[in-house]
Amino acid sequence: MGAPLTRQQQSQLLEWFGPDRFSTGSSACELHIHDISPHRVEPPSGVVWPQSTEEIGRLLAWAYQEEIAITPWGAGTSTEGNPLPVKGGLVVDMTRMNRVLAIRPEDLQVDVEPGVFRRELNRQLSGSGLFFPVDPGADATIGGMIANNASGVKTVKYGATKDYVMQMTIVLPDGEIITVGNRAHKSSSGYDLGKLFIGSEGTLGIVTEATLRLSGVPENQLAATVTFPDLGSASEAVAMIIGTGLEPAALELLTEGLIELMNKENGLDLEVTPSLFCEFHGISRTSLEEVAALARELCEDCGALSYQYGIDEHERRTLWQARHDAWETINRAHPGKNTLIVDAAVPISRYPEVVVFANQAVKDQGVHGYVFGHAGDGNIHVVMAGDPDDQEEWRRLETVNHLVVEKALELKGTCTGEHGVGIGKRKFMALEHGASITLMKKIKDLIDPKGLMNPGKIFS
Ligand SMILES: Cc1cc2nc3c(=O)[nH]c(=O)nc-3n(C[C@H](O)[C@H](O)[C@H](O)COP(=O)(O)OP(=O)(O)OC[C@H]3O[C@@H](n4cnc5c(N)ncnc54)[C@H](O)[C@@H]3O)c2cc1C
Repeated sequence: MGAPLTRQQQSQLLEWFGPDRFSTGSSACELHIHDISPHRVEPPSGVVWPQSTEEIGRLLAWAYQEEIAITPWGAGTSTEGNPLPVKGGLVVDMTRMNRVLAIRPEDLQVDVEPGVFRRELNRQLSGSGLFFPVDPGADATIGGMIANNASGVKTVKYGATKDYVMQMTIVLPDGEIITVGNRAHKSSSGYDLGKLFIGSEGTLGIVTEATLRLSGVPENQLAATVTFPDLGSASEAVAMIIGTGLEPAALELLTEGLIELMNKENGLDLEVTPSLFCEFHGISRTSLEEVAALARELCEDCGALSYQYGIDEHERRTLWQARHDAWETINRAHPGKNTLIVDAAVPISRYPEVVVFANQAVKDQGVHGYVFGHAGDGNIHVVMAGDPDDQEEWRRLETVNHLVVEKALELKGTCTGEHGVGIGKRKFMALEHGASITLMKKIKDLIDPKGLMNPGKIFS
């Protein structure tokens, strides 16, 4: 942990933010040392809740002179320790910059402050015929989603956060305020600095405003559940559906253990066998029926046991809610344990291989592990429950994590499909990126030569 703030530093912060928006109190500090990862850090020296770009500019310029570490904080729902203040200093909690600034339906755009939560954004968009479709299960902030380049169940059709960010205001580590990007639908104007900041996990600066692209709310939605005799045939069907260009809006793979828990927790009666949850969006019911019928043929060619579609709206919502709640469900089923979440992604043709491999690794290591994922994106998750204080048990969880990530890299995939690097995935960065990790570090050093912005993340 870094040095505590001096009395002079504290009075400067109190003068700028007042006791409402600056705290060194233990409860405020301890609220900012946990995401859902097993990583633990010491409390920071203080927490600040800014309300404007200018305030953040002034704060960062001052912290840069004083050499105080700065860690931005959204909703704290990361899975790899991304927002934890490993070197103490100040946590900058963005949740009081939570305004939707302007909705421009004619351009399909919205301007937001970064602390707005994605559900609240969609609530404010309701009635406009537009929505922000990126939906990690958790109710994250837009700033946290930009910083982690989050995605979710609908990414297979609609894309990830990076596909929706058009323009951003960013405060750099020394307090300079810049704008990157523009509001045009396309641009080939120089280096794409926006993409550099998206997914940089707050290590290069703080996003203080963003213009997001929006999508039209689909006229028709059709959900289907498909069961398979084994994991291999279920994941082969995924590759077939994507390869045939059917463009599902969601295509999720679930395995027996998780389905059993979902049945118990949600009063569902799903068959306990590897399954796909699919959703299709389109302009007419007839076109959706055609797509669903084609998907059925493909699934049956892969050996599907059952294919149920046209399920009613209530059932559709219940199924997706149960899927969204997967992590909470697993957590509740293992009281007193922590979870370790594997998040890796591979090219779609290699999805069956990585899924079968991960399932076997869970069995071989004898851990409580649940394999599922955003199958349509080639994204696999294994949520494992264990006790970090039981070294032998936790070592087996870590072994599964290593094996699956290394397998994904061998298959030309990535060590993280959506959760980011944080603390947990730093150890895989050199293996995935080779010499280009050196270039990433040079960029970090150029923008943040004192290493003060969210230190200890991405790079070992
Ligand atoms: C149950 C559950 C399910 C999840 N499912 C998914 C999923 O399907 N897909 C997915 O992608 N993720 C998923 N996640 C992970 C998590 O929700 C996302 O990574 C999300 O983007 C984190 O947002 P947050 O607001 O909680 O940010 P935080 O966790 O608070 O912070 C994330 C990172 O952003 C930085 N940051 C925050 N605000 C700013 C800012 N304004 N400027 C610069 N940096 C900033 C932080 O320093 C940190 O590095 C899930 C999490 C949970 C708990």
